[in-house]
Amino acid sequence: MVGRRVLYLSHAGPDVYALIRAAAGGAFDVVTLERDDDEERCRRIADCEAVICAATRLTKRHLDAGRRLRVVHHQGVGWQDTLDWQEVKRRGLPLALTPEGTTIGVAEHAILLMLAAAKRLSFADAELRRGRWHVNALRGVSRELYGMTIGYVGMGRIGQAVAERLVAFGCTGVYADPAVRLPPEVEARLALRPGSLDEALQASDLVTLHVPLTPATRGIIGREALSRMKPGAIVINTSRGGLIDEAALVDALANGQVLAAGLDVFEREPPAPDSPLLKLDNVVLTPHISAGTRDAMRQKMAAIFRNLTSFFATGQLANRVELP
Ligand code: NAD
Repeated sequence: MVGRRVLYLSHAGPDVYALIRAAAGGAFDVVTLERDDDEERCRRIADCEAVICAATRLTKRHLDAGRRLRVVHHQGVGWQDTLDWQEVKRRGLPLALTPEGTTIGVAEHAILLMLAAAKRLSFADAELRRGRWHVNALRGVSRELYGMTIGYVGMGRIGQAVAERLVAFGCTGVYADPAVRLPPEVEARLALRPGSLDEALQASDLVTLHVPLTPATRGIIGREALSRMKPGAIVINTSRGGLIDEAALVDALANGQVLAAGLDVFEREPPAPDSPLLKLDNVVLTPHISAGTRDAMRQKMAAIFRNLTSFFATGQLANRVELP
């Protein structure tokens, strides 16, 4: 039996393709790219009934070429800026997300960046490799998470998973999310209280971003927001680069208003080779890999093919987005 054809829109290596095919089983025929090439993408999508997308933006051109498409499955959750959802909506195609795998991967990565930024891991490691043994140099600036107040901008799936982990570090928190009010027992257990964005910025030793990139959140951490933070606060961004005015953050990192930053996402990806961020000792940078673990990938693909099986059999699709 020939399976339903599903295009994996991003270009990846054979190990990733093997992992996807293992999750797909016999009911699906996974179509993959030989090269990171848009012509090939448009050619291959033409006879596919489903597309899995994330890192490579799903564009109108792909959708025009994908005349047999019946469903779009996002491999992660940040759909607002990674696909042409207006075109998806115009065609009446259902869109589903994959929180499975994503949430834990990003939450663990946020903690990694927090610890690494607080203790200047990138700097210490790079210096040691150059033969410089800074046994004392960082004592004046390194921090511990214990006892910190954490400012959460966004308290959805990932914000909550981060808070669950930080309670074990002895942190408390203020969360700003107009759409979320956690039950009182959860707030008590996680040592959290709700507040405005301003309260979260002013009260916190570390601010961590867990909101989607939308016109309303673009630049939410700009010059003014940075100036309202506690002097010497730490900034962590595992959500989207466009949430932060990078030039303003660079100035705040350079003048000490912000002690350190941990960034997995950037205004431009990859950042320009002459980006001033790359020259700062008090930042830890990773290439948008928060949810990019093998564990996450296995979980995501199992969830996606479970969902596609259900969709093609019954029309039921879990984690479906109501497009605005
Ligand atoms: P989610 O939808 O569960 O939570 C997002 C929360 O943000 C919601 O509760 C929403 O009410 C809140 N929000 C929206 N606008 C806000 C505002 N102006 N102020 C405060 N809160 C606001 O999403 P999630 O699963 O927690 O994911 C969060 C984001 O993480 C995604 O949108 C995506 O951009 C990012 N992400 C990044 C990676 C990565 O690899 N770095 C991977 C997955 C997700």
